[in-house]
Amino acid sequence: MKHTIDFAQQLLDFCYASPTAFHAVATTRELLEKNKFVQLNESTSWKLKSGGKYYLIRNDSALIAFVAGSAAVSEQGFRIVGAHTDSPGFRIKPAPEMLAENSYLKLNTEVYGGPILTTWFDRPLAIAGRVALKSKNPMQPQIRLLNIRRPVCIIPNIAIHMNPDANTGFAPNKQTDTLPLLGIITQKLEEKNYLARLIASELRVKEHEILDFDLFLYEYERGSLIGTTEEFISSGRIDDLASVHAGINALCKIVKPTATCVMACFDHEEVGSSTMQGADSQLLAEVLERITMGLKGGRDEYFRALASSYIISADGAHAVHPNMGAKADPTSRPIINNGLVIKLSANRSYTTDAVTAATFIQLCEKAGVKTQRFVNRSDMRGGSTIGPISSTHVSIRSIDIGLPMLAMHSIRELCGIQDHSAMLRVLGEFYQS
Ligand SMILES: [Zn+2]
Repeated sequence: MKHTIDFAQQLLDFCYASPTAFHAVATTRELLEKNKFVQLNESTSWKLKSGGKYYLIRNDSALIAFVAGSAAVSEQGFRIVGAHTDSPGFRIKPAPEMLAENSYLKLNTEVYGGPILTTWFDRPLAIAGRVALKSKNPMQPQIRLLNIRRPVCIIPNIAIHMNPDANTGFAPNKQTDTLPLLGIITQKLEEKNYLARLIASELRVKEHEILDFDLFLYEYERGSLIGTTEEFISSGRIDDLASVHAGINALCKIVKPTATCVMACFDHEEVGSSTMQGADSQLLAEVLERITMGLKGGRDEYFRALASSYIISADGAHAVHPNMGAKADPTSRPIINNGLVIKLSANRSYTTDAVTAATFIQLCEKAGVKTQRFVNRSDMRGGSTIGPISSTHVSIRSIDIGLPMLAMHSIRELCGIQDHSAMLRVLGEFYQS
């Protein structure tokens, strides 16, 4: 039990240290470096050793780590876990300063992905992301991560007296109703380049050195364990940092695996994955082929490896809601802390089929972990994952699974401590099997 609580606390630390996809990659990288993984560069050639531990980063926001197995990849294939580093929220627009009533300084923002907008109101918000600075070589701008870990802004609600629909169907306008308030301006000039000045002082650079930024809002408060026996984990970005956290930890723990074990953390799942660091790219296919070549294999070995590989696409799964049980399927009703969820969809928005499920169920049995099933109610469409997208680029058997969770895409999501530890155990079993 102590280990379960410790691992849940580690997830809270991980989510808190990873307010954006860039930070999720940086936090993951720290963990990998601590465990003696060696960084590879896409622009150099790879000479890999069996048993070697490696990782690479693309665009500061996607990461693939792997341990080369003792057996040839053409014999044992790849054991791959896929997850995503991004989460829905608000991105700060260029030239974001806006003045209201000649006094209130607001930030212009754009919604990223599909957050539950109303959960972002009245929360202390901080700002984090990536800043691009002037460099000697224009082809390689200097990149700095930024995390203003202070409650610098807030999206205030409108009083219920002025919005009688507040509890009966209020639909916030994404351009006008959700802009965060930064402060009160006393002199007109203060408004100009306010954010650039803030960035410059945080990063200790000159304002004119800042060329651009990819900055997001995030909830300032750290997540917490909740419940009478602390059985729940409440935090931002559980979807899908819980899978990234469990997968990377499982990879760091494996000892001398036979198969080559891979943890793929993609960006941009929340906006469709169609970027060079998203799952709808050649990233995974290229890395797997380069691993094969780095281990002195050729194209034939690569395709043979794919044929005996398996991908676990790990992402959040909807648990039955305690107040809204009618929203769930009548027979498949996942409960938090009751085991990992296998997700199935007749229309193939998940990759799972009977064969891939059979493999996963047996891995869970070996790891002493229960499984549950998720299917959408037939009159609801549901979400998707990186699973089906990845499998259009690499021909590998695949399954979609996840932690049962509530409040998916809220500023604070909820999952269970038992399930998070179960995920670690099953992924460990998968890598070592
Ligand atoms: Zn997700």
